[in-house]
Amino acid sequence: MSAAPPNRPIPPLARPVTTLYGVGTERAAQLGRLEIRTVEDLLLHRPRRYEDRRQFRPIAQLRLGEPATTRGRVVALGVKWYRKHTKSIFELVLDDGSALLYCHWWNLPFMEKYFAVGQEVIVFGKPVRLKPRTMDHPETEVLEDGEEDFVHFNRLTPIYPLTEGLPQRWLRSLVWRTLGQFEGRIPEPWPPLRPALDAASLPTHARAIRLLHFPDTEPDTALARRRLALDEFIALQQRIRLRRRSFQTKAHALPCRGDNRLIKPFLAQLGFKLTRAQTNVLRELRQNMCGVYPMRRLLQGDVGSGKTVVAACCALMALESGYHVALMAPTEVLAEQHFENFTRWLKPLGVAVQLQTGSRKTAETPRRKATSGLQPPASSLQSVPTLTIGTHALIEAGFAPENLGLVIIDEQHKFGVIQREQLVRKGRYPHLLVMTATPIPRTLGLTLYGDLDVSVIDELPPGRGRIQTFVRAADKLPQVWAFLRDKLSEGRQAYVVYPRVEDAGPGGLKAVTKEFDSLQQTLAPFGVGLLHGRLRSREKEAVMAAFRARQVQALLATSLIEVGVDVPNATIMLIENAEHFGLAQLHQLRGRIGRGAHDSYCILVAAAKNREARTRLRVLEETTDGFRIAEADLRLRGPGELLGQQQSGMPRFRFGDLVEDLDLIRQARDLAAQLPGG
Ligand code: ADP
Ligand code: MG
Repeated sequence: MSAAPPNRPIPPLARPVTTLYGVGTERAAQLGRLEIRTVEDLLLHRPRRYEDRRQFRPIAQLRLGEPATTRGRVVALGVKWYRKHTKSIFELVLDDGSALLYCHWWNLPFMEKYFAVGQEVIVFGKPVRLKPRTMDHPETEVLEDGEEDFVHFNRLTPIYPLTEGLPQRWLRSLVWRTLGQFEGRIPEPWPPLRPALDAASLPTHARAIRLLHFPDTEPDTALARRRLALDEFIALQQRIRLRRRSFQTKAHALPCRGDNRLIKPFLAQLGFKLTRAQTNVLRELRQNMCGVYPMRRLLQGDVGSGKTVVAACCALMALESGYHVALMAPTEVLAEQHFENFTRWLKPLGVAVQLQTGSRKTAETPRRKATSGLQPPASSLQSVPTLTIGTHALIEAGFAPENLGLVIIDEQHKFGVIQREQLVRKGRYPHLLVMTATPIPRTLGLTLYGDLDVSVIDELPPGRGRIQTFVRAADKLPQVWAFLRDKLSEGRQAYVVYPRVEDAGPGGLKAVTKEFDSLQQTLAPFGVGLLHGRLRSREKEAVMAAFRARQVQALLATSLIEVGVDVPNATIMLIENAEHFGLAQLHQLRGRIGRGAHDSYCILVAAAKNREARTRLRVLEETTDGFRIAEADLRLRGPGELLGQQQSGMPRFRFGDLVEDLDLIRQARDLAAQLPGG
């Protein structure tokens, strides 16, 4: 029998809000909708904005279209109904002695019961007319007699996110009282960091919370946010360090020193020399794989920088050392392509390569050469070291390789952190190499991939043609088709990309399946292939094979071909409805071309009406620098879009901002390293 847990008192900040004076079950439920459950949640409830109530603008001085705070006494109010009592306007008229202000709310007739003639009301809004002075749907706060005016007035007043039924003033008073009650008991989360934080002129955690709600000056609000964001980032960096260390204590490292007997002939038959960047990265990887701890490394390199060859060398090191290697790719098309390449490269060396996808499982038996035959490691005398290539099917139960020494994940950004770890767990702390061409803005790199070491291939192989990019409105399509036909008659090939498989209906996305017929007519006599996610994998393979063999000159595809596909003779990429893609994704798509010696052309076609979208797309005309593009995308669309839905590993921040806070994230990383055990 185990002893009953000791009755520890709940730390003050962890107490439920119901323990606060004035919070009953109804209020607690409302707060719960704002995810405020504990005292701490309440204290960290971030104001949406601040209102300068040290001065009010007289109603007579309101300016058209300019948001302002003003106040006045209610002189009239009422609801007008129209359209047979189905529509309504609630009108509130305020007078401050300088002029009248008309406030209107549409179809919220119940608002009437919140106000009464004679009340003093504070209003924040934007005048939509000056004759008479009118605001539509302004924010209001009714002054009530005997209230703590010093909380709500003569200060930069916090305006909180609310939920239905929860009054702004009530919440503000609650925060005020709670802060007064608990301020002395808000602990400093990282006592050892006090000197460093003081040196950085940052307020204490407790002080930051006070300034968050009741700042003395405008700059206080920014200072408070920075300190609280820093605390979030430090907590995150601590978790990352912990995860890292949990791998570093596993000194199970499988020594993959290799003996070059496979790598040497592999490089000799490759037909090109590795670039300086590839060689450097390979040296880093080799060091890592010989080390005491399992390798945990992210290999970043722009599209076309030649990550696959580096991965192959890595795989050979492990295979030479007698270990099994798994390579996971996000799509069947890409897995097939890798399978084809690796089979071509490695089969002559006597390496077994097999493929495992949702729809296919093959075994390529090695043509064993007496000279380069692989020695199975002592612990598994029966099995020949094998390279297994596959999709997420590898994560499933059926795949249980003996002696897994290395896991490679291609196009990591298409998988989540969890899937990555699931595959790694198929072995006993195997080495891990994840590869991505999505340039990760540094803020995300330091948070999401903070537990990985990073290698970068920062150079493209020589002899690549230029890629020119053009943004065109859809009404220019006839010229675009003419250009495309020209290039096809010169012997080049083209990708034509649509965003979806099926017609999205009256919304009007063009559908690949429907467009196929008309594209065939437009491009006749050139042959057109069709590739989309709903095809069976046999069909996909056949289409890709025909395209590679130049039996068809154009490939109509969904964004399926976004990752990895490598056909050097394809030099045109035409993307329709380009406005539906993120910039980083378009950059990936564009990476399918410019892989041979011929000049390449990427044409982004966007709706004629959508000028804004075309402006956004111009970033791609201006640069092929994947990092700049990713930063722009992060700014324009936020981290969620950039990383895709699968990215389950990213925490949510109350105060931290992944777009703006690179300096804080770096600071947090350095500070976390100073913590005990850090
Ligand atoms: P990515 O980094 O986008 O995965 P790949 O590995 O698919 O790029 O490589 C793109 C193309 O460049 C492939 O056809 C590959 O064979 C070729 N390649 C890779 N390294 C070199 C090199 N050092 N010199 C010439 N071509 C190379
Ligand atoms: Mg690739």
